[in-house]
Amino acid sequence: MSLKIEKLNYIYNAGTVLESYAVKDVSFEIQKGESVGIIGRTGSGKSTLIQHFNGLLKATRGTVLFDGKNIAEKGYSLKNLRKKVGLVFQYPEYQLFEETVIKDVAFGPRNQGADEQQAMLKAQNALRMTGVSEELYNKSPFELSGGQKRRVAIAGVLAMEPEYLILDEPTAGLDPRGRDEILNMVAELRERIGIAVVLVSHSMEDVARYVDRLLVLHHGELVYDAPPREVFRHAEELEKIGLSAPQMVYAARALREAGYALPEDLINVDEVADELMKLL
Ligand code: ADP
Ligand code: MG
Repeated sequence: MSLKIEKLNYIYNAGTVLESYAVKDVSFEIQKGESVGIIGRTGSGKSTLIQHFNGLLKATRGTVLFDGKNIAEKGYSLKNLRKKVGLVFQYPEYQLFEETVIKDVAFGPRNQGADEQQAMLKAQNALRMTGVSEELYNKSPFELSGGQKRRVAIAGVLAMEPEYLILDEPTAGLDPRGRDEILNMVAELRERIGIAVVLVSHSMEDVARYVDRLLVLHHGELVYDAPPREVFRHAEELEKIGLSAPQMVYAARALREAGYALPEDLINVDEVADELMKLL
């Protein structure tokens, strides 16, 4: 199973004064079960790119293949695709609308033809996976905290049992604790059910801890596709395009310069701490 993007181009408002070339000749393939980060500055094309994954946007040029099938082909079921590729928008809690948490999460499965009982079971299962406690199921989504609302919104997509979970800036607007909780929850999910996760972020710190592969976008072009450790070796190049390596890469470098014999490729706080412990 895979999601394959070939020479994808997307232009907003083509041929008008508002024309904006958002994605340029981007190609890559994501296998089932992978964990991939997509990073880039605001306006680099991240959100535009991922909306092609489930056919919400149609490529201006290029192809999207799911399981080897071109999703733009006549007769291709986008409904089916959207069941397999679940997309969680940025600030998804703004789309909560049902009177209770459980009804909101059950909406997707019901919409896909599940009967009432099945829909409820899927909703409960999804809420359990995102760590929403049972006493909240019958509350209004509007009574919940920011972090809880976001979990409910993610559960709404998980309830459709997708094979790919695409999260557009899932930590935006959360405090550091809320951010870690959401990312840990997503990492656990992946371990438990083997779902592929695509994490869109502008935070290098987040992707340095949670993904195995990193796609870097700059002005709509894919400039890196490699494990984070490799991408972060290019700190200077990243800085030239307005990004940077995670703080810990710089911290480890400073420690090396101060005489600590740390390896060259440490990228997060846990790794730096482990290596320092070995030295002390
Ligand atoms: P990111 O998610 O990385 O911030 P976007 O995909 O939202 O980037 O935007 C990529 C480019 O496309 C930007 O130049 C942005 O201004 C433009 N763009 C995004 N959405 C629209 C839209 N609905 N209409 C016109 N231009 C858009
Ligand atoms: Mg965006």
